[in-house]
Amino acid sequence: KLYNQVQDLKGSIRVYCRVRPFLSERSSYVSTVEHIEDGNITIGTPSKYGKGCKSFTFNKVFGQSVTQAEVFSDMQPLIRSVLDGYNVCIFAYGQTGSGKTYTMVGPKHLTEENQGVNYRALGDLFVLAERRKDTFRYDVAVQMIEIYNEQVRDLLVIDGSLNVPDASLMPVSSTSDVIDLMNLGQRNRAVGATALNDRSSRSHSCLTVHVQGKDLTSGTILRGCMHLVDLAGSERVNKSEVTGDRLKEAQHINKSLSALGDVIASLSQKNTHVPYRNSKLTQLLQDSLGGQAKTLMFVHISPELDALAETISTLKFADRVA
Ligand code: ADP
Ligand code: MG
Repeated sequence: KLYNQVQDLKGSIRVYCRVRPFLSERSSYVSTVEHIEDGNITIGTPSKYGKGCKSFTFNKVFGQSVTQAEVFSDMQPLIRSVLDGYNVCIFAYGQTGSGKTYTMVGPKHLTEENQGVNYRALGDLFVLAERRKDTFRYDVAVQMIEIYNEQVRDLLVIDGSLNVPDASLMPVSSTSDVIDLMNLGQRNRAVGATALNDRSSRSHSCLTVHVQGKDLTSGTILRGCMHLVDLAGSERVNKSEVTGDRLKEAQHINKSLSALGDVIASLSQKNTHVPYRNSKLTQLLQDSLGGQAKTLMFVHISPELDALAETISTLKFADRVA
């Protein structure tokens, strides 16, 4: 309820930022993140980059020590609104290695404590559906797709076949069903990765949760859906260093991330024309972007000095859609 009131005042686009911690224990590392307070983040730029600092303001900024549980609890009202018939899109954006997959899925070795938004969201929907079972009956189904070079691939089929326009819709009734399907999806992603190493950072992956709720007294049916999207790495490649397939990939990623930025920016400016047609991703999500739908752009940054240029470019992207 509170979330909806806040949304009414601010529009339906929210922008969050998360800074991942340093990956080794060395305490001598210097972070480019100078200060975080409420929704403000200040990035320090050392002299060789033109000394000074740049500040950005978002709906929320999560520092290095924020836990998975804390991140989720902040997103929980948004996620729960799916059961009330809202459409929700959550995008994880950032350069490769900045923590997108960590936020959405978790680290390689998953525990209950470190699991990401995808698992927690589904688990929470089942808990809430159970709590409402005297008044509502909910049916939940999931899809998992990957978009690579503007082609869509269904990740929930046993043979991982290519280019399936109507991705399998799998009914689920418990968190363990979801874990099984996500594992299948992850395995299928890995199959595609044999030819090109770490393809996962160069494709968008999207877990879609469809919810249908029937009000047991009135018979009214509510439909909501939620897209949880782990975007391809946003880093720019140096055109003089890559050629052929790698360059083509990079151009597809560039094009689709800027198309997504254009759509969200025009929604947040309440433009009448929203350019959905410019990429596969925005075409597929058209019904869940804009209108009554709720969008969370969750940008990720790395604290290291050598990531500074990408960090600034990520924060500028976020600033434009905020
Ligand atoms: P991306 O998906 O953006 O390429 P990853 O999520 O794979 O990045 O993160 C890169 C590495 O950093 C992984 O080893 C991941 O487990 C780790 N990592 C990312 N964010 C965090 C975090 N908030 N806390 C601890 N480790 C993290
Ligand atoms: Mg990743």
